[in-house]
Amino acid sequence: MLSPQIDTHGEMLNFLAQTRGHFIGGQWVSGGDVQPINVVNPATGLTIATIESGGAVEIDLAVNAARESFDSGVWSKMAPVERARILFSLADLIEEHAEQIAHLEALDIGVSRAMMHEIGVKLAADQLRYYAGWITKIGGQTINNSRPHASGREFLTYTVKEPIGVVGQIIPWNFPFGMSIGKIAPALAAGCSLVLKPAEEAPLSVSYLAGLIAKTDLPDGVFNLVNGVGRKAGAALARHMDVDKISFTGSTAVGKDILSAAGGNLKKVTLELGGKSPVVILPDADLSEAIPAAARAIFFLNGQNCMAGSRLLVHADIHDAVVKGLVDIAKAMSIGSDLDNAYDIGPLISKRQMTRVLAYIDTGLGEGAELATGGKRVSGLAGYFVQPTIFTNCTPNMRIVREEIFGPVLTVQKFETEDLDEIAGMANDTVFGLSASVWTGNLSKGHLLAGKIKSGQVGINVHAAIDPATPFGGYKQSGWGREFGREGLEPYLETKAVTAYL
Ligand code: ADP
Repeated sequence: MLSPQIDTHGEMLNFLAQTRGHFIGGQWVSGGDVQPINVVNPATGLTIATIESGGAVEIDLAVNAARESFDSGVWSKMAPVERARILFSLADLIEEHAEQIAHLEALDIGVSRAMMHEIGVKLAADQLRYYAGWITKIGGQTINNSRPHASGREFLTYTVKEPIGVVGQIIPWNFPFGMSIGKIAPALAAGCSLVLKPAEEAPLSVSYLAGLIAKTDLPDGVFNLVNGVGRKAGAALARHMDVDKISFTGSTAVGKDILSAAGGNLKKVTLELGGKSPVVILPDADLSEAIPAAARAIFFLNGQNCMAGSRLLVHADIHDAVVKGLVDIAKAMSIGSDLDNAYDIGPLISKRQMTRVLAYIDTGLGEGAELATGGKRVSGLAGYFVQPTIFTNCTPNMRIVREEIFGPVLTVQKFETEDLDEIAGMANDTVFGLSASVWTGNLSKGHLLAGKIKSGQVGINVHAAIDPATPFGGYKQSGWGREFGREGLEPYLETKAVTAYL
């Protein structure tokens, strides 16, 4: 929790006063468009800092620095225990600077510092330590080869795990600090060098992270940061011919652009994309747990979360009770944002995002969905606040049911059947497959339904249980590959099979 002894305001004011450049080859480098990017506090609509807008030139410099460090072996061939020590030391530094990180992140995305401690700093430190622990355990296998040579001599075959090389990583604005650690920890654990491009809307805590990394013994050029907008810096990184792998988290539309850009050198691609995650409540569920959990599933971070439980499927027997419970919760939610107080609903990240979400609400009304609560911009607040919104009487073909809104908007669909195949069919009626949850008093039904739902994560009486050791990623158009856990390390490793005569 926050320690009242540490006042971060002075230090943070200094940090915010400097236009943040790029961190390349162990140094801060200036470059890019003449006009810097304004970083806006979404709670007030006011500019709080500026960052430089890098492009192809800065990306090229950063990729070259990463390549040089990778090819020199300064990191990839460093003793595993030593590499682990450096990642552990970064986790310690992050905890020591928790106040500063939480402060910047809170200003950048409009939440309280206490919340950022929990979902930004703590999870990030846990994740680094989890992957630091893997470094000394990465290894190949000896293979039971069944092809002895005609001469009767035997083969010895073994596999070696090698770092894939230079990695490009592009992250969104919803959890910038945790997201950046989620990307860099497995890449560094594998022995890769990398270039990170944060989202232009929320780049501050990642810039601060670069300063912390500079204090560790990580060799120069292993971690590089380029600030800039997606269509310039991001696109240049995705198409760069000397990048061996790109890892992207963001919208499905941009994920498809990344994929085409990556085709030039067929770099490996990991994509963690959007979702329209179902929360399925069966008639035997414990509603005292399911209702508040369904509210959290959609309204956490104002729905700006790829795992948001934005599609509620609820059995007819309990439909009215569930809707009433959710509407009561939504109406009682506190709305606001400041550094020291936690609110249930904060601002959306930008005016553009707010306009998009309000347009979806209009679409829902036009499609004939019934507004049970919310539906408007919050009056009297300068920032980009939208009321927690619930639509009932939703049908499968409505755009608000099919498309990811990324805002505090829940659609409710009622079903009559108790047939698990039919229920799973409704849950699976989407192009996405990132997260899902099933609420039931009968665990067997929960497991059976979990088996039928096409989604990277399924919770039984829990929604979106994130943990560094638990693989995370999507079926269908929610992505390619997995992050977190052992599976999150694999995409950063190549497997080499070596065979020799004995
Ligand atoms: P938005 O928030 O604009 O809807 P995303 O959430 O998909 O877009 O953006 C996630 C990340 O992808 C951000 O860092 C953004 O700068 C970057 N990005 C956006 N467009 C592109 C692109 N065409 N190529 C590479 N990166 C991009």
